[in-house]
Amino acid sequence: MNEELRDLYQEVIIEHSKRPRNFHALAAPARSADGYNPLCGDTVKVYVEMDDDHKVADVSFEGSGCAISTASASVMTEIMKGKSADEAEALFNSFHELVTRGEASDDEIDALGKLAVFGGVSEFPTRVKCATLCWHTLRAAIAGEDAPITTE
Ligand code: ZN
Repeated sequence: MNEELRDLYQEVIIEHSKRPRNFHALAAPARSADGYNPLCGDTVKVYVEMDDDHKVADVSFEGSGCAISTASASVMTEIMKGKSADEAEALFNSFHELVTRGEASDDEIDALGKLAVFGGVSEFPTRVKCATLCWHTLRAAIAGEDAPITTE
């Protein structure tokens, strides 16, 4: 990872963990799912409201966790509005690839936009679950799964 991206990574983590975006509950009929990462103690509840075209009309989260889990959820909610369930799934896969392998194709990086800075997480394997927890949880919320999500 180059130095510029590393600096940006630090910046985004600090900024979004201090002032998380979309950090609140959504009222019904929004769906929600709970996620837990026992390795770090992160908990997250992700709310999602789908419109009639199966696109994300609104998305938000609550919970408490480390800086990385909070920043990841914050950036995720920012980027996810207006995406279809299929686009959300594609982003999930690109993001997962990026944080576990530390690399993604140029097309994937383009699609990930601001999320691309989370490539920095790949240098700290124990934090990968912190970064992906909210994504697994969002996926469950979109699918309407009731069972709590755990990274273990
Ligand atoms: Zn964590």
